[in-house]
Amino acid sequence: MEPARGTVLPGMRALQLISLVWLLCCAPHAEANTREPGSTAPIPQQELEDMAWARGDKVTGAEVVNYVAFTFDDGPEPETTPQVLAILEAHRVPAAFFVVGRHFIGDSPAALEGARLLRSMSAAGFLIGNHTLAHQSLAKQPFARAAASITDNALELAKILGYEPRLFRPPYGAMTSKTRKLLRERGDTLVRWNIDPKDFRKARQNTLQAYVVKKILSKKGGIVLMHDTKAATAHALEGILNDLQSANCQRMARGLPPILPVSLHYFMQEQDGSARAVPPEVMKTTQNSLEALHKACQIDN
Ligand SMILES: [Zn+2]
Repeated sequence: MEPARGTVLPGMRALQLISLVWLLCCAPHAEANTREPGSTAPIPQQELEDMAWARGDKVTGAEVVNYVAFTFDDGPEPETTPQVLAILEAHRVPAAFFVVGRHFIGDSPAALEGARLLRSMSAAGFLIGNHTLAHQSLAKQPFARAAASITDNALELAKILGYEPRLFRPPYGAMTSKTRKLLRERGDTLVRWNIDPKDFRKARQNTLQAYVVKKILSKKGGIVLMHDTKAATAHALEGILNDLQSANCQRMARGLPPILPVSLHYFMQEQDGSARAVPPEVMKTTQNSLEALHKACQIDN
């Protein structure tokens, strides 16, 4: 059902109200933290990281429905990462970037540019995760070397960002029980995925946009794995976000909840399976996205 252009969807006001009430009452909730009640001071990045991640957990994408988190691996890459960032920012979509040390360590112009990019990504609110020093499989090297590729990359990131990221994704998804134990001891959250368009394959790049949107809709959200080092991904992303928005407008017109692009925070669970508290700033961003979506659906459909 495609509503006529320029008309206000019937029942849209009611839907907007329902989804805002849902977001405020039933979505994973911000709990009180150590801050003074009513404090409007921003939470320091370090504290945000620790509160949300530093418990050695794992997320797969299957923890919640109607939320989608976009994640990008293997950068930062001076050509393509800025394109990806610009599209995400224009659409106000959060994302996490799992970065490889060889792109930002050292004094080469490329490394200095990589470090500059990381600082601006972090300042813009994107999550930065550890993807090892040199992108070698953790399962195919001696444990001591695998451990160093995790911890040294975290320390190098701390020099640039001012904090050690507590999100980790293993290259190729490959782990051993010893590296998993190390991540738990470090308090790193292991971030897997359940939507993988294999955007590194040439054959997939023509169908990337359609594949990702189809999977997000059929799985009702999840964690999408893509690569900000690929020109094809940077090109497809705009279309993916536009198509997802159109699909969300249609869903809402049919009385269904939208599948909202959100931060990885929404996938975190406590040990009893309940949703982990989402920091207030992150919830506010989600609420703004929802309001922007309602506006876009009214105007553009
Ligand atoms: Zn990778």
